[in-house]
Amino acid sequence: MSRLATPGEVLQLIRSGEAVTRADIGRVTGLSRPAVAHRVSDLLQRGLIVEDAEGPSTGGRPPMRLRFHAGGGVVPVASLGARRTQIAICDLAGEVLHRTDIDIDVEEGPGVVLPLLMDTWEKLLDGRGDVAGIGLGVPATVEFAAGRVESARVMASWTGVVIPPVIAERFGVPVLVDNDVNVIAMGEHRSVYAAELDDLLFVKVSTRIGAGVISGGGILRGALGAAGEIGHIPVRDGGGVLCRCGNLDCVDSVASGTAILRDLRAKGRDVASLADVTALVRAGDAETMAVVRQAGRWLGEVISGAVNLLNPAVVVLGGDVAEMFQPLVSGVREIVYRRSTQLATRSLRIERGRLGPGAGITGCALMVLDHVLSAQAVDAAAR
Ligand SMILES: [Zn+2]
Repeated sequence: MSRLATPGEVLQLIRSGEAVTRADIGRVTGLSRPAVAHRVSDLLQRGLIVEDAEGPSTGGRPPMRLRFHAGGGVVPVASLGARRTQIAICDLAGEVLHRTDIDIDVEEGPGVVLPLLMDTWEKLLDGRGDVAGIGLGVPATVEFAAGRVESARVMASWTGVVIPPVIAERFGVPVLVDNDVNVIAMGEHRSVYAAELDDLLFVKVSTRIGAGVISGGGILRGALGAAGEIGHIPVRDGGGVLCRCGNLDCVDSVASGTAILRDLRAKGRDVASLADVTALVRAGDAETMAVVRQAGRWLGEVISGAVNLLNPAVVVLGGDVAEMFQPLVSGVREIVYRRSTQLATRSLRIERGRLGPGAGITGCALMVLDHVLSAQAVDAAAR
């Protein structure tokens, strides 16, 4: 580091595990011993790190080991779905401490849903913990900087609503709101891939289809925050299905969970939910496998275009339909490797999301922690 490292930058070294002793910090930053001591005692005093004498003994007194203090605060988060919302309290490492899911129709609107969220967080917190920040993932396009819900096909009653001030008024901490798919894309990248690659395309296939793009290590948002809205890109030979957006054969209308259920019912199959379809896939039902594989091919058309445009190192498939990974991914692969350029697919991986059903809340916690524990934020809080 060419200039003197700040306490916030020293914290990043400790959080990442790059430095575990005062001597490490001196080595990495070039700070003098008194300067290191000063910054470390500042971070200790603020409860951001703790120390214990577990270091390897080199004869004499063992060096004190410095650790990031994940218990130094809490982060309330929520992942809003059309019908079901996941609510949790996480620690400063993003681990879930308490969680509850509630069934509520998001169309009840912000006047009903936001107070319910805040009451639930307060109940889960029960007066404990220092709230560091709050994170929310919503099934809509979000103007990220303002936290404004822009276009909301699922959340029509939320259009134009600026969420952060409503929540900040009660909790007095930073509030971050983003599109649910962006949140999960970031969560998958941070917790699984960050050390090895910077370019990832996350595709969520549930009742709707959406994508989140990590490019050069950060979320690609586009001019209005609508990047990744791939659900309404049309496919070839979709059969003329009218999409709810008014166009024909959008990938959303032929390959989403909703479309898979509709196609199976049209074949006379008795399926009430995607869980039923997943069970049929696991049982190896040929007709169901064929329907899911065809959905994968249509999805593959849209993904192959995205691969040509973005050249991701990995495509991660998540959402409820990703539970039917084998037939889905074989359809996707069939088309992507045929249609995308050789260079873009030379080392392309197509994998299943690993965060599972809790991906939305983990992603929200990481979004908040990135913000409130950044070197800049930590240094600004000390002033
Ligand atoms: Zn459409």
